[in-house]
Amino acid sequence: MKEYCSIPSLHIERGEGCWLWDTVGNRYLDGNASIWTNALGHNDPDLNRVLIDQVGKVSHTTYLGLSHPAGAELGRRLVELSPGNLTRALFSDNGSNAIEIALKLSFQYWQLVEKPEKRLVVGMEGGYHGDTFGAMSAGNSESFHGRFRAWQFESRSFPRPNCSEINGRITAQEVDRSLEALESILSQESKRAAAVVIEPSIQGPAGMMLQPPGFLEELARLCRRFDVHLILDEVFVGCGRTGDLFVCQAESIEPDFLCLAKGLSAGYLPIAATLTSETIYEAFLGDFDSGKGFYHGHTFTGNPLAARVALESLEKIQGLIESGRLKRTIHYFGNAFERAISGLKNVSGARQRGLSAVIDLIPGNGVKPWKVNDRVGLEVCLAARERGLLLRPLMDSILVVPPLVIENEEIDFLFANLKEAINTVMKKKSI
Ligand SMILES: *Cc1c(COP(=O)(O)O)cnc(C)c1O
Repeated sequence: MKEYCSIPSLHIERGEGCWLWDTVGNRYLDGNASIWTNALGHNDPDLNRVLIDQVGKVSHTTYLGLSHPAGAELGRRLVELSPGNLTRALFSDNGSNAIEIALKLSFQYWQLVEKPEKRLVVGMEGGYHGDTFGAMSAGNSESFHGRFRAWQFESRSFPRPNCSEINGRITAQEVDRSLEALESILSQESKRAAAVVIEPSIQGPAGMMLQPPGFLEELARLCRRFDVHLILDEVFVGCGRTGDLFVCQAESIEPDFLCLAKGLSAGYLPIAATLTSETIYEAFLGDFDSGKGFYHGHTFTGNPLAARVALESLEKIQGLIESGRLKRTIHYFGNAFERAISGLKNVSGARQRGLSAVIDLIPGNGVKPWKVNDRVGLEVCLAARERGLLLRPLMDSILVVPPLVIENEEIDFLFANLKEAINTVMKKKSI
């Protein structure tokens, strides 16, 4: 907060497409897609229309015990668009809750099928699933969760593969090491393991850490072999970010749980969904006195305004995918990214997949190093801000996550200004 308060506040007043305007009229490209939610641009006429239409009908009515057309239709659409085994959807209002619900359903399922000892959660190195206690326990992020370890439930983690990709060119290492470690945990803990939780394809909050193609399939096979649920956290990657609607559907994986949030909301109103299978659903069926019911509900579960926007957003993202537009944008983005990083000093890593990219700025290459308190990542983002570009750093890594509808000229603007911002900061610090 000390640092934050020392930086002039930026008050964003309005938006249109990929652009945001502050209260004094400056314009910024939203290179962070408003924390990875904004798929279709700001102030989208179609999303506005369905939202206003729904406001004219009803803004909130409980989904606990009642239903409404927007929620019912969204559930049906999600089931249609996701892998075949996923037939049921539970709504909530953020990614952390979507994960909490998947974990609790998994734990209760094992109790209901008389295997209550299956309680252990296994996650991947660097995993981030949200900031509530269950999500923190399943995650593996020292900086986000380290201080709260003492209050978290037991979990285990396995190393991630080491994979880099730019423009579709992939180099992957340590894939076997990762899968062997998971296999070894699952075989040691086969009686106790309830679920494996991972962010498939890209671990966004860890700094765009990638998995090579085929990795997820192997991992899913291990889960099946050891009778452990597979929970896929597609809160970041889902809804078009990688070029497909869902990673699991693109890789023909049938998880036991699929968690969606950020992109599903289109950056309008909070909504999340946890999809699951008929097998899980049926285990919870019974007469009232069986006590099998799932006691979990959020006040704003399935909010009709958010549900209507999500439904329209899914149709529009499907349109971008089916027309080939998203693929063309990703292609252009990959080329522009590759050009932008060539010749930059002090880049120790760069990865891009779909419409997400990262530049790791780490001192090295024989060039003068900097200290943690130099805050190079933050300084680069502040320099970018002065050039009309909003980005978010993760320590000294710069994350680039634009709306899916970004135009080629906007991509050029983004990388030209990011490159200038990096060069300016390096010069200022005489690195
Ligand atoms: C953002 C995020 C979450 C948490 O979602 P919230 O809506 O912030 O609770 C979980 N998993 C991943 C991969 C995320 O990127």
